Amino acid sequence: MVKRSYRTDKITVHWNSELCIHTAACLNALPQVFNVGEKPWIAIENAGADEIAHAVEKCPTGALTYERTDGAPDEEAPSQTTVIPWPNGPLMVRGNIAVRDARGNLFTAGPRFTLCRCGASQNQPFCDLSHRRIGFRNNPQVVSASRETAQSPQDISPTTGP
Ligand code: SF4
Repeated sequence: MVKRSYRTDKITVHWNSELCIHTAACLNALPQVFNVGEKPWIAIENAGADEIAHAVEKCPTGALTYERTDGAPDEEAPSQTTVIPWPNGPLMVRGNIAVRDARGNLFTAGPRFTLCRCGASQNQPFCDLSHRRIGFRNNPQVVSASRETAQSPQDISPTTGP
C-alpha cells in the first residue's frame, strides 16, 4: 500500500493506493493535475484549490481525499446516503459512511467508498477490480436501480452471504 500527500499552502491532497481502482475520474476531471504519464502523477501546483477539491470529490473510491489549509470548508458528506451498483461491478456509496468490522468496530470512515459486490476482492470490503478477473455478472434489473437511504450517517458492516 502506498499513501502519499501533495501540498500547497491552500490544500493538501491525500492518495491511498489501496483504494484506487483506476477509474480515471480524477484524470478526466482535471488532467493538468492528475496525469499518470508524469511523475509525480499529481501536479498539485497546476490548478487552484477549489478546482482540485472539486476533482477529488469525483473520485468514487475515496482513494483521493483533501484537507483545505486556507480556511475554506473541507468536503462535506452528503446528507443522504446513495448506493449505486456499477454494472457488473462494485457498489458506489456516497454519504457519511462508517465501515465497521463484524464486531462493530470502526474500520474506516469517509464520504465515498466503492464496495466489493462479487465477493472476490482481496481487499475486502473494497473493490480491487476482481470482478473483471472472475467475469462477474449481476442481474441486469439490479443495475438499473439506485437506492437512497433517508439520512446519513450510515454504518456498513459485513453479513454472511449466500
Ligand atoms: S478517481 Fe480515485 S479511484 Fe479513480 S484513478 Fe483517480 S484516485 Fe484512483
